[in-house]
Amino acid sequence: SAGDRAPATGPAERVHEVAVIGSGPAGYTAALYAARADLAPVVFLGTVFVGGALATTTEVENFPGFPDGVQGPDLMEKMRAQAARFGARMIEDDVAAVELCGEVKRLIDGHGRAHLARTVIVATGSGHRRLGLPREEEFSGRGVSSCATCDGFFFRGRHLAVVGGGDTALEEATFLTRYAASVTVVHRRDSLRASRAMQARAFADPKITFAFDSEVVELLGDVRLTGVTLRDTRTGATRPLAVGGLFVAIGQDPRSGLFAGQLELDAKGYVVVRAPTTRTSVPGVFAAGDVVDHRYRQAVTAAGTGCAAALDAEHYLAARR
Ligand code: FAD
Repeated sequence: SAGDRAPATGPAERVHEVAVIGSGPAGYTAALYAARADLAPVVFLGTVFVGGALATTTEVENFPGFPDGVQGPDLMEKMRAQAARFGARMIEDDVAAVELCGEVKRLIDGHGRAHLARTVIVATGSGHRRLGLPREEEFSGRGVSSCATCDGFFFRGRHLAVVGGGDTALEEATFLTRYAASVTVVHRRDSLRASRAMQARAFADPKITFAFDSEVVELLGDVRLTGVTLRDTRTGATRPLAVGGLFVAIGQDPRSGLFAGQLELDAKGYVVVRAPTTRTSVPGVFAAGDVVDHRYRQAVTAAGTGCAAALDAEHYLAARR
């Protein structure tokens, strides 16, 4: 009976065809395609990163269609508007809990309200691990970066540092030597975790030097980063290192905690999909973008898989009509 239903504070018992979780390139592109297929998607924007990771950056020069580059927040606002134009409804809230099994999925928003949907597209992205230093946020986009592919170009002729000892750190360092005057790899231990091949390449590169047993303990500069303070992890002694850019490559964490125990995740927490589709381990649930992808991590690849997720959801729904 009606009396047994969930509290009347929630939205009507309408069952949406598609609910998208996330407002980065993957989420907005999924919403655009679902909206143009007349599926009237709802999009949970999330409260921390409305517009996703690109909304936190400045110039984006590698998203096709913008020969003069585009500001990250402008690009994301355009994606939002394009999805909204075809009827995607934006909900400025997080998804705090999900029940994904069954034909109708239940999403509980940050205010405890329930939303129902036949399909769910997970596009919650991933976050770069941070050093956890004061002023790190302030210098982000002003000398501190987590993406050499994205930002290396802006550091032509500079002395740079990369923090980390894995494959990503050495890849970033090697890539940055195209632009940089020098690259110092700062690593806490006395040996690297990176593969032998990557190490050999980095050791042979005349532009790369290593600061082993060292950690960055301070970020220096006025408006932009101009240097860091390194601490020797054995002796505790500190020394300054003048750099115009610091690339933090100490790992990524997919935002998949919400789905633990419901969707199959890999050992690192990424949502597992049945490639080349975006199908997850649960029928009717699809995943796209950086919450799936630990290889490419670009806005255009996230948008591409977001498109695929909407098409997969459309096929799933059509097969059930
Ligand atoms: P994201 O963009 O991370 O979006 C995830 C979304 O999920 C966010 O909107 C968030 O609010 C939402 N969310 C998370 N949890 C919840 C929840 N529980 N409920 C509701 N919503 C939730 N790539 C390029 O191609 N070119 C560049 O120049 C470039 N520069 C970059 C610069 C910086 C500083 C950073 C950090 C990244 C850059 N990237 C760049 C990478 C690019 O931003 C990412 O690959 C891309 O944004 C991934 O898209 P996504 O949609 O998968 O996830």
